[in-house]
Amino acid sequence: MVFDTTLRDGEQAAGIRLGPREKLGIARQLERLKVDIIEAGFPISSPEDAEAVRLIAEEVRTPIICGLTRARIEDIDVCGKALEPAARSRIHTGLGTSDIHIMGIFGDDKYGTTLAEKRKTALQMSIKAVTHAKGYTDDIEYYAMDAARSDKAFLFEVFAAVIEAGATVINIPDTTGYAVPEQWGALIAEIYELTKDQDVTLSVHCHDDLGMAVANTLAGVKNGARQIESTMVGFGERAGNSALEEVVMALRTRKDYYGVYTEIKTDELYKTSRMAADALGMSIPPNKAIIGANAFSHSSGIHVDGFLKERQTFEIMDAKDVGAPESSVVLTARTGRHGVSHRLRELGYDYEESELERIYERFLKVADKKREVYDEDLVAIVHDEVHTVPSHYVLEYLHTASGTGTIPTATVRLKIGEETAQGSECGDGPVDATYRAIFALACSEATLKKYVIRGVTGGTEAMGEVLVHLEENGRAGTGRGVSTDIIEASARALVDALNRLASEK
Ligand code: MN
Repeated sequence: MVFDTTLRDGEQAAGIRLGPREKLGIARQLERLKVDIIEAGFPISSPEDAEAVRLIAEEVRTPIICGLTRARIEDIDVCGKALEPAARSRIHTGLGTSDIHIMGIFGDDKYGTTLAEKRKTALQMSIKAVTHAKGYTDDIEYYAMDAARSDKAFLFEVFAAVIEAGATVINIPDTTGYAVPEQWGALIAEIYELTKDQDVTLSVHCHDDLGMAVANTLAGVKNGARQIESTMVGFGERAGNSALEEVVMALRTRKDYYGVYTEIKTDELYKTSRMAADALGMSIPPNKAIIGANAFSHSSGIHVDGFLKERQTFEIMDAKDVGAPESSVVLTARTGRHGVSHRLRELGYDYEESELERIYERFLKVADKKREVYDEDLVAIVHDEVHTVPSHYVLEYLHTASGTGTIPTATVRLKIGEETAQGSECGDGPVDATYRAIFALACSEATLKKYVIRGVTGGTEAMGEVLVHLEENGRAGTGRGVSTDIIEASARALVDALNRLASEK
């Protein structure tokens, strides 16, 4: 079983909050990839996330839709309700079982004064959580956070108790990325021995702090785990999770050794990883295994020679197996509406007529300026045009002046609701001046936490993409903007982030 947690663990880490619509788009692609379980979110964390889980539960019917909770009644109630529309639902509940976690969470004396008493509290809470979750669905996964550093005897006691209470999947997470493959494999083997006569699936959830998430996950499979928890490209907390595409392709390429198979449609891996990276504002290193831009390119002379004679000399997988594009399709201003929508669908993006119209209009503007529009450009346009929140602020006009010996100045006109406001500011540079002007017009007290700019494709005529993280009164708002003009892209990103903040008010 392949359990994807890109929408939960992956999102949590990116510092980005995906809107329900964006999450749904990725969930649909995960369904095409044929993952068995989608962890759609952590419903109690925000009303927006609960809404996202509900929307995915309504729309995505083939995989099991799962929501994360702490071992608390209120978490489980919110999660159970969000999952109500699902064809098949799963509640993923649990708590930290290592001494460090127990002393942290149950520090207060009301949970017991000794470690033994606090452990007892943790055990009882776990049983209660599983029992309560059973009221919503039969499919209950229990996680023992920080299992790798937990006292083994206690860990086994908790597992036995939650299985007794009705847990059907036991998740053994290496939350801190502390495990090493041999030792981790041995632990999974021990748990497998203890539970093999029961109707329960063992799951491994590994983190990559020491670069061993995939190795540990595979060691888990070798020793009896039959569910793997991964994220696309390994996006996740800190150094991330095990990369789904790596685990899946390792199991497939080395089925001689592992002797198991997954249902994953591997030729959807490339598309899915790119969608996830775009949505989370992360980039994929060229040397990334399986889906990196160089993963299937050969440059050394001997290799190229050998490769041309016989593919298998230097390649254990075929680019086609993972759905990596073999030729890059280039669109131009002459590409019709139909061509653009066809290419978008090939890339895994599907839109309604009205949205396509907007995307196409923007495409024409970009194609006019840069002649050749690559897949990356198209994807960037989509992310800039299709917004998940209403546009309270609209950028109507932007003019900047900068240069050597010039004081950088920006003039901005914003549509704010029904009103229009206009103003000018000076700054350290044109972007700074633009941001000062927009902040002043919007009367915003948000602070800029992160500003990242990258070229979408190569060349000076390429589109620039800007990613902005704002913070206001403890709330985060992220925005994205693209344009062939990087100052305009910057302004669009800021306006997008302000709209997200405004939509929460
Ligand atoms: Mn995790």
